[in-house]
Amino acid sequence: TIAIVEVENLHKHFKQKSSLVKAVNGVSFTLYEGETFGLVGESGCGKSTTGEVLLQLTKQTSGIVKYKGRDVTSFSKKELKNWRKDVQIVFQDPYSSLNPKKNVGWILNEPLRIHQIGNRATRFEKVLRTLEDVGLDASYLERFPHELSGGQRQRVAIASAIILDPVFIVIDEGVSALDVSVQAQILNLLKELQRKYKLTYLFISHDLNVVQYFCDRIAVMYLGEIVEIGKTEEISAAPKHPYAEALFSAIPMHDEDDRRIVLEGDLPDPSNPPSGCPFHTRCAYALEICRSEKPIARSVGDGTHKVSCHLSVPVTCRNLSKTEQ
Ligand code: SF4
Ligand code: MG
Repeated sequence: TIAIVEVENLHKHFKQKSSLVKAVNGVSFTLYEGETFGLVGESGCGKSTTGEVLLQLTKQTSGIVKYKGRDVTSFSKKELKNWRKDVQIVFQDPYSSLNPKKNVGWILNEPLRIHQIGNRATRFEKVLRTLEDVGLDASYLERFPHELSGGQRQRVAIASAIILDPVFIVIDEGVSALDVSVQAQILNLLKELQRKYKLTYLFISHDLNVVQYFCDRIAVMYLGEIVEIGKTEEISAAPKHPYAEALFSAIPMHDEDDRRIVLEGDLPDPSNPPSGCPFHTRCAYALEICRSEKPIARSVGDGTHKVSCHLSVPVTCRNLSKTEQ
């Protein structure tokens, strides 16, 4: 498997009023060709900022982002512009990304024009083919974003993301604003396009139902850090980190002892995160050491599944014998 994006110890801190918000605080992961990798967590945990830094829409404070082995954080302007053809983003609300004053034909032609691809005739061909790729046809060319349904708008946003034949797409809450039935259609479309064009997706979402269905692997983020990373089915069936356990307990599972873990307290202020383990202020299992020492990621299972927690016996195993530790 080919590594498409490698993120190493990424930090993004920014000033807000008089404090320093640590939006992304030491995140590392690798995205492999053709996979869908989910970033999950409550709003404000740093998922979107991570996606933006990956695409260099905002600069990291420190750390490295590699694309096919090359460090994009040191790209020149020209290299960045060239690279932009390969990487795209789809947002929750296509209203913010689609120019309301332009029709669909213009919107889809624009990236081709900017990157000086083909001539008028070949560009028009490409626009038509891409419209078909997303389940629309030539009758949409003259329509404006406000004349489309939410699902159709998202199809146009996806068309404009794939029209330059990208390799990697960040989908930031890409279906969160849609009705459940339309969500399913858009997710199926994304899957189809992924197979057809070998796309690699970073799927940012707070909706675990969607993530479980759509992602091959996931990383659970809390206060700018990844607390658990691994295969979706492994984590959703048996989360090992107390925060992941709480998150996944909130969605209905099929077994009898459906117990929902309600987290005590609010998400701490990201400009003043707790010492030690960032989750210790809300963790039902917290130990003395959790307040002072930050846990480091360690492998559980086959080595690709990693957890950042001091517990020597992970939570899902603890349910079997509550008296341990
Ligand atoms: Fe809870 Fe401690 Fe594990 Fe953090 S390190 S999740 S506080 S048990
Ligand atoms: Mg977000």
